[in-house]
Amino acid sequence: MGPSCGTRGVSFVRYFPAFLDLNGRSALVVGGGEPAARKVRLLLRAGARVTVVAPRIGAELAQLAAQGALRVVGRGFVAGDLRGQAVVLATTGRAPVDERVAEAARTAGLPVNVVDRPDLSSFIMPAIVERDPVVIGICTGGAAPVLARRIRAAIEALLPARLGRLARFAESFRGSVRATIPDARARLRFWERFFEGPLAGAILAGDERAAREQMLSLVNRPHAAPRPEGVVHIVGAGPGDPDLLTLRALRLMQQADVVVYDKLVGAEILDYARRDAERIYVGKSKGNHARTQDQINELLAAHARTGKRVLRLKGGDPFIFGRGGEEREYLRRAGVRVEVVPGITAATGCAAAAGIPLTHRDHAAAATFVTGHGRNGEPDLDWAALARARHTLVIYMGVSTAGRTAARLIEHGMAPDTPVAIVENGTLDSQKTAIGTLVRLGALVAERGIEGPAIIVVGEVVREADAAALPERLHALAV
Ligand code: SAH
Repeated sequence: MGPSCGTRGVSFVRYFPAFLDLNGRSALVVGGGEPAARKVRLLLRAGARVTVVAPRIGAELAQLAAQGALRVVGRGFVAGDLRGQAVVLATTGRAPVDERVAEAARTAGLPVNVVDRPDLSSFIMPAIVERDPVVIGICTGGAAPVLARRIRAAIEALLPARLGRLARFAESFRGSVRATIPDARARLRFWERFFEGPLAGAILAGDERAAREQMLSLVNRPHAAPRPEGVVHIVGAGPGDPDLLTLRALRLMQQADVVVYDKLVGAEILDYARRDAERIYVGKSKGNHARTQDQINELLAAHARTGKRVLRLKGGDPFIFGRGGEEREYLRRAGVRVEVVPGITAATGCAAAAGIPLTHRDHAAAATFVTGHGRNGEPDLDWAALARARHTLVIYMGVSTAGRTAARLIEHGMAPDTPVAIVENGTLDSQKTAIGTLVRLGALVAERGIEGPAIIVVGEVVREADAAALPERLHALAV
């Protein structure tokens, strides 16, 4: 029978989870090396009064001792060191010493932890995620500490950085909420609504001041329960690889009631949205007329007005050729709460994926992002400025006009043999990188059959592209 099997209907866990209150209490750490320093840091954060017993101590502990943060006893451990202690940690890594400490602590009835020796420990320390005052401990019962670390990373990614602020905020209103809503069940509902609602969202987004004002009026009129307020998050989904989503985008995807997305947002990314979220596609596709921008604006506002959390998911960054500015403007005018979350834009995503630094001390002191498409076809650009030297040009939506763009740049003085790169479906498995020279840009698009979304990079920085992508001729130039 494995250790997790139950006896008499009670399932068995190897360890009893608990949090120790060490504030103002004494803690003994035996050993002075790096493992000791790690434990001391945690103990000090918990407000413990720390004594380190060790013949020698490392730099970090020495520094803490110099600041008066802990007491150091410069010799080996003796049983008398245990007097008055609330907890004992042995960190020397030397079995005879650690064993002696553990034995003495047990005899004295003190909780003891020995680093990497669960067999000698009366308690073990979990991997932790901290959002003070929220602390999450992860314990694999000593079975797989590396797994615990992985779990920690997953939880870290899920929990907003300002979660602790949210907890403190709620704490600061506990008294007044209890006074105005004496009924316990009503109070529970109030707090549930609070943590799900827009106020909590505002705090997590960093707008604590507005949240405090609204909370005050809510606490003063608890029965005038406001209708749930909807919100639109205009979120950048990055260039395609889901790994390039921001943590905030991921969290919002998991909370959204409705996801409104367009063509650049692929299925791999949508998979991260909450399972029961409604998904609305607003991009162009064959046999399906794309919605106009006005219709999209209306749609976003209409859903938010019913109190839903609407996620407007856009490829790349919403404020770079994404019409995020227009959507935000419309929603603001319509009185709908709206927040914008940046994403990795195609230029930086594709540049990294192709190994092209957009600025470089030898080649380019500036980079400019332009669109290859104007309102009525060819864009109205300052070609002379774009053609200047030591400058990287990144062209969005420029595939169909590539030949003409190249001709314009050459007309305005850019060298015909300036290197160019076309990155199609950048960051995705289907990424294709084509490299050549400016004078052949149009031909390159045709020869390589570029059809998907693609970024064109023009400038000397292209010489730095990943070697595999460089044709031989550019290789020769690069050396
Ligand atoms: N807001 C987006 C850009 C939208 S405009 C952003 O910040 O990236 C659409 C253009 O973006 C496409 O025509 C193409 O030029 C570029 N693009 C978007 N995703 C791309 C990708 N994965 N690979 C190459 N180009 C991409």
